[in-house]
Amino acid sequence: MTSTDLQKFCDPTRHTLATPFSQEVWSFAGCGAMVLRVMRLPDVPERTDAPRHLRELFEKNPCTERFMDLKGIALPPLSGPEPCPVCDGSTIHFCQDCGESHPCRNCNETGRVPETAVPVEIGKHLVSHLLLHRIKDLPNVAIAEHTSDPRGPLTFTFTGGDGLLCPMKKPDNN
Ligand SMILES: [Zn+2]
Ligand SMILES: [Zn+2]
Repeated sequence: MTSTDLQKFCDPTRHTLATPFSQEVWSFAGCGAMVLRVMRLPDVPERTDAPRHLRELFEKNPCTERFMDLKGIALPPLSGPEPCPVCDGSTIHFCQDCGESHPCRNCNETGRVPETAVPVEIGKHLVSHLLLHRIKDLPNVAIAEHTSDPRGPLTFTFTGGDGLLCPMKKPDNN
């Protein structure tokens, strides 16, 4: 795993997560719903604006014993960004309130929105197919079937590192 590999797991829309960062003996990368870590890479700097308490987050959610090989799980295919439902992809929407047309804020005037997450069953949890597609090519990636804390993140492991991801909320349990 190199710093270039880590960059693929960053979130360019959030400046605190836009590039990998190092803390203690690890280098991290992630988005709002997922974070992974590898042994510290010499070319990944520390950043003062990076998320804190990541060590504690990993310690609170230790790897559990039952792991599923992610390669054995059929994932719904990625279909790519979808037309914005507010402006129908036109980037301009007709405003019922004032009777005029405005640039569409729902899609930031791009006409497209990220595709809807499809839940995939992992043990007792549902995980977005978008997240699973992001991690599925990590070497020997395996994902825990349960969490130590039912509301907590799910652990995954791969050769050289591990990570945490947020399961989707189930509609029928609060
Ligand atoms: Zn729109
Ligand atoms: Zn208006």
